[in-house]
Amino acid sequence: MNNPYPHLLAPLDLGFTTLKNRVLMGSMHTGLEDRARDYPRLAAYFRERAEGGVGLMVTGGMAPTRRGWLAPFSSSMLSRRQLSRHRLVTDAVHGADAKICLQILHAGRYGYHPFVVSASAVKSPISPFRPRALSARGVDREIRGFVRAARLAREAGYDGVEVMGSEGYLINQFTTSHVNQRKDQWGGNAAARYRIAEEIVGRIRDEVGQDFIIIYRLSMLDLLPDGNSLDEITAQAQAMEAAGATLINTGIGWHEARIPTIATMVPRAAFSWVTRAMRGQVNVPLIATNRINTPEVAERVLADGDADMVSMARPLLADPAFVNKAAADQSHRINTCIACNQACLDHTFRNQTASCLVNPRACHETEIEARPAASPKRVAVVGAGPAGLACATEAAARGHHVDLFEIGDDIGGQFNMARRVPGKEEFDETLRYFRHRIAETGVRLVTGTRVSAADLEGYDEVVLATGVHPRRPGIEGIDHPKVLSYVDVLAGGCVVGDAVAIIGAGGIGFDVAEFLAHREGAPKPSLSSALFAAEWGIDRSLGARGGVRGVAAKPEPAARAITLMQRKTGKLGAGLGKTTGWIHRLDLKRRGIEAISGVSYVRIDDEGLHIDIDGEPRLLAVDHVIVCAGQEPNRDLAGELDQSGIGYTLVGGAHEARELDAKHAIRQGTLCALAL
Ligand code: NAP
Ligand code: SF4
Repeated sequence: MNNPYPHLLAPLDLGFTTLKNRVLMGSMHTGLEDRARDYPRLAAYFRERAEGGVGLMVTGGMAPTRRGWLAPFSSSMLSRRQLSRHRLVTDAVHGADAKICLQILHAGRYGYHPFVVSASAVKSPISPFRPRALSARGVDREIRGFVRAARLAREAGYDGVEVMGSEGYLINQFTTSHVNQRKDQWGGNAAARYRIAEEIVGRIRDEVGQDFIIIYRLSMLDLLPDGNSLDEITAQAQAMEAAGATLINTGIGWHEARIPTIATMVPRAAFSWVTRAMRGQVNVPLIATNRINTPEVAERVLADGDADMVSMARPLLADPAFVNKAAADQSHRINTCIACNQACLDHTFRNQTASCLVNPRACHETEIEARPAASPKRVAVVGAGPAGLACATEAAARGHHVDLFEIGDDIGGQFNMARRVPGKEEFDETLRYFRHRIAETGVRLVTGTRVSAADLEGYDEVVLATGVHPRRPGIEGIDHPKVLSYVDVLAGGCVVGDAVAIIGAGGIGFDVAEFLAHREGAPKPSLSSALFAAEWGIDRSLGARGGVRGVAAKPEPAARAITLMQRKTGKLGAGLGKTTGWIHRLDLKRRGIEAISGVSYVRIDDEGLHIDIDGEPRLLAVDHVIVCAGQEPNRDLAGELDQSGIGYTLVGGAHEARELDAKHAIRQGTLCALAL
């Protein structure tokens, strides 16, 4: 068979060792690193990805000292007492013929605890704790912590370490003047600021010898106005090579930068040009990262010469067999990461174990296991939205005979609306994945059919994944012709006027605002790195410090006058994901969309929508009022089944519409299938 991805699947010779391909599974904090008792689960998680063909992996970040914790008692590599748990991980990975590095991450002022330290006592906007500036002796003590962690990593069987020098963590706090205001040998010009990184990498190399991988994660684009210049970053890269780094990985943007770097509206491989700028400046291989989520994109990044390796973290959460499927020329079978962050980073930031919206087994490999069915049953699944799709395909994969009924002409349910929203194009990939999964598991799909209770007689199991009905609030005039539901707009193709009011500011209210703000036919920044950079003020010439031109950001004004509302007081979209809600709020604000909270809806009539804010009446003279006021479970069929005495299981929105999202729906559908 021809090699479908010759660059991606080519081995990489590091001199003392060879990586079997160019895929680095990037560091991702799963939460399983934080407790000793979770290491068997962590080992199973890594083993599955190692068996899936990845060449080199990196663990979640481990603090080298207690001051470097991300949160109290979070993951660390401090003493030999911790080695046995790490050996579970390294043995699992080596048993599957892959390699793994331990990431050493010192949180500095991003730590969420009272012992935080940094280059200077400059508080971060994302932690309430003001850091203590390290003394010169203190700096040396933290460096020794890094060296000790690397020595312990080697003892635990790791193939190397990644030194986290980007994303605004401690080393990055030293390397830029954004935080580093020191006057001693660790501050001042660029060389003095990155001396700490040089010392760390150099002393680790002296400690561990030559046959141990050291990856340095370099902040190549700080995305802060007082970040480093290209010359300073290049000099830092060269210093890291001289100090003994084996590979240089790319870091994009500090966590506090208000520019999206990995969310779904960021185009694929949107930052590989940054890594490319470093090529020829150093001799060690360079790794590109951020929003590389398919073998085709990864191959293009490498073939275009942007980098020597690609880092993918979330895509391997979504599909552990990503590399093997690519190698078998079956990229259509890959369960693609849609960059939603809903089950991975949003969980991490809430101190929950990470998982994956499209793959609920991620980080639950030891609990969610698909065993062949003891005795195959006839199963009917009604509704081919995310819950029904997950349930039908998992059940069929276990050997059950599954009929999947869908009233619409196509599979997808709410995903069919989401995929129409600019910046959510990735949702198409999940539907593509399920189409193939239906075919390969042998699910019999029947579309365009409203099933009745009579049709469901004779099945051993009936699963209702019939989804939701949009809620119709009891506002006077709700039947006025000006009123549309979000389904009319996103799925029905209704023509919408130049002035609109949106009732409800949950995920769907924001989606509808985004959809209506976009000028039909205009190019989408989510599909073009150049447009995306222009929209967010990113300087692709790298002439500006930190890679940002700030005032030069050019968001496209909204295509129509839009007012987005909720009855609650407080900020709109408070229930959106922690790592993405701010992007949606900022984006709509920059594009001139009015956001109002604390409203009472009075009535809708020919004049428009009458509202009341703190006792003040106001008329929104709009062409259309679009209702995005949540949903109610669609249990129409359940009533019929009750009358006929046919048993059934409810999953997804039909089970619980409130707070329902695709993450819960896919997980619930999967678990239901495993219980059949
Ligand atoms: P939702 O998040 O529950 O939001 C419903 C909105 O309608 C709220 O803003 C609520 O605000 C308002 N509302 C509720 N009852 C109302 C009533 N009787 N009259 C007027 N307003 C009312 O529901 P959704 O936006 O439909 O989203 C459904 C699910 O999909 C959610 O779980 C959501 O997280 C998920 N989703 C997520 C995303 C994402 O980007 N992560 C995108 C789309 C959907 P007030 O009660 O304050 O008025
Ligand atoms: Fe990707 Fe979303 Fe899964 Fe995270 S939860 S790995 S972003 S698909």
